[in-house]
Amino acid sequence: MKNKKEDTHCSFCGKPADQTALLVSGQEAQICDSCIVEAGSIVEQQLGFLPKGDGKKEKGGDKKAFTTTAKSKLTPAEIKKHLDEYVIGQDEAKKVLSVAVYNHYKRINRKKNDDDDGIELEKSNILLVGETGTGKTLLARTLAKVLDVPFCIADATVFTEAGYVGEDVESTISRLLQAADYNVEAAQRGIIYIDEIDKISRKGDNPSITRDVSGEGVQQGLLKLLEGTVANVSPQGGRKHPEQKFLQVDTSNILFICGGAFEGIQSIIGRRIDTQAIGFKSKLESADSDQNNLLKYIAPADLRSYGLIPEIIGRLPVLSYLNPLDKDALKRILLEPKNALIKQYTKLFDIEGVRLDFTPETIDYIVEKAHEYKVGARGLRSICEAIMLDWMYDAPSKKMKEVLVELDYAKATLEKLNLKAA
Ligand code: ADP
Repeated sequence: MKNKKEDTHCSFCGKPADQTALLVSGQEAQICDSCIVEAGSIVEQQLGFLPKGDGKKEKGGDKKAFTTTAKSKLTPAEIKKHLDEYVIGQDEAKKVLSVAVYNHYKRINRKKNDDDDGIELEKSNILLVGETGTGKTLLARTLAKVLDVPFCIADATVFTEAGYVGEDVESTISRLLQAADYNVEAAQRGIIYIDEIDKISRKGDNPSITRDVSGEGVQQGLLKLLEGTVANVSPQGGRKHPEQKFLQVDTSNILFICGGAFEGIQSIIGRRIDTQAIGFKSKLESADSDQNNLLKYIAPADLRSYGLIPEIIGRLPVLSYLNPLDKDALKRILLEPKNALIKQYTKLFDIEGVRLDFTPETIDYIVEKAHEYKVGARGLRSICEAIMLDWMYDAPSKKMKEVLVELDYAKATLEKLNLKAA
């Protein structure tokens, strides 16, 4: 493309070159500056955001471009709509997350504008509580994708093992920096998902009375990270070297989303509710489903009883829960999201020129088995992989045109595997 201001016209609005500020030429057409702006806003309206690679180059080369402001203008409802495309159900968590993220970026942008009226908006780090495989990580990952900010996952159990909190804190930030392609500014606006936050709250089996002292030490270290600290990160990500220059990353605008299953917390919630007003309890007893999922009543006090120190709870002011996945939700997860598993397999086969179909009974069988495994939607993937292995092995060499996965085949394959595993 070149910048041209000859005796020619914009191919879109017809304006002559001398009436435009800029005319950009393509192979067979030209576009003027006002049509570029117009086209940009159409893209933004249609897609909800501007696509990546908007031509901006970072200092020091071709670094990944992260949009800094356009995405943070999405309203909570728009953010939730994007989440709906990838994550099934979990409406309450989606709503809470959308609002928290909206406020988070509003806070950052406001700070940048130097709006100094003395009111300080506090950071709204988030805590998600829910069984394994119900979509906690997926929600955090999808949020980062929607907002086009760098994202990484850290495992809280690693903090415990290493013991050296300072090192671990920096390794987490280092991973985020890597995801940001070493663009410090982008990393400072990123999202870090800390998995298994519940595992640092106790050592023993009894969640209510056993307190793990070293776990507390880890929590103290984590606290600094959540509050905001300046981490020194080695630019190459590797081991620190005395003469190496460090990149300084300020974590005060990084959004932390922590997740954990908090196994056993339902009984803590139940006990707390038991000791509360009778009116509330009878309301609870009248709704069966509520009793099955006490998580929806989770409160900071329960986290404290579970073993999280109050300071950490205070730094995770946004608390939400994820529902356990029933068969209906599992079936929807298998079929509906933009990158649903069945869609992925169909695409894989389609690339080979093979039409892949599953009978409805096979789908129900996969769902049934995944529900039995009790690992949330995680079971769906392993079951599908097991069923599809032979087809994926044979399809390319046997030049198949169509594959129909029927119930008998699926059953026999899984049963064979279970026998082997026994
Ligand atoms: P966890 O709650 O343990 O963090 P994940 O988010 O890692 O669970 O979920 C594991 C996998 O299961 C994801 O990769 C995703 O494909 C699928 N999954 C889980 N929950 C949902 C959901 N609500 N909607 C769509 N897919 C889901």
